[in-house]
Amino acid sequence: MAVIAGNWKMHMAPEEACTFFGAFEIDEMMANNEILIFPPAISLLAAYKCEDRDPRVQLGIQNVHWEDRGAFTGEISAVMAASVGASYALVGHSERRQLFGETDEQVALKVAAALRHGLIPVICVGETLEEREAGRVNEVILSQLDLALTSIPDPEARFLIAYEPVWAIGTGKTATPMDAAGAHGTLRNRLEQAIGATTAARTEILYGGSVQPSNATEILAAQDVDGVLIGGASLNPQSFGEITRAAG
Ligand code: PEP
Repeated sequence: MAVIAGNWKMHMAPEEACTFFGAFEIDEMMANNEILIFPPAISLLAAYKCEDRDPRVQLGIQNVHWEDRGAFTGEISAVMAASVGASYALVGHSERRQLFGETDEQVALKVAAALRHGLIPVICVGETLEEREAGRVNEVILSQLDLALTSIPDPEARFLIAYEPVWAIGTGKTATPMDAAGAHGTLRNRLEQAIGATTAARTEILYGGSVQPSNATEILAAQDVDGVLIGGASLNPQSFGEITRAAG
């Protein structure tokens, strides 16, 4: 059993989202996995209502604001996302951090907002190439994680972590299974210290960064990798299906 999550980014208008679900069928080999899709916010309701969507495919929002309502032009709150079918919220994706200047403090506020409205946060962490080359992988991902964890006071609250090295996102470069296992082990140890062994053992840590049908099996087999977060390859129902099947 693994978590297989697709981040559609700014792709898939409402009608295209429903067409995707018409072409994505869950067969026996995929059925043990938890399958999530993060459509763009404008397509969430269409995805939720689409009759062709197998209800086992759960939905999430790619970003939320930390307030519930107010004068925040262009933003969407967790309570709004929950009302149109989201069960999960991606928080702190590297594109949000890099392109939109999202800070660790804002990520923590967003985690709190998601939990407040019953959305399961998927907290994204990851280092840039420069940080990796400077030997700072653990320092960077742990400081990102630590701040996000300040918003999780209740050890019973479910949340997921996605380790997504920035240099591997959309570049065709993937971390080796050993690199992924190393980072995931570091994150799990920190969870154990911060929230306790039970939460650490049960929290799924996903790997993201150029996951494709051709490399999914070896990534998913790596120690401490509980699933994958897929960008590009999740836009195609066939490749998303193949990756989901690879998880068994
Ligand atoms: C992502 O957007 O989270 C991602 C991992 O993208 P890609 O699979 O395209 O690298």
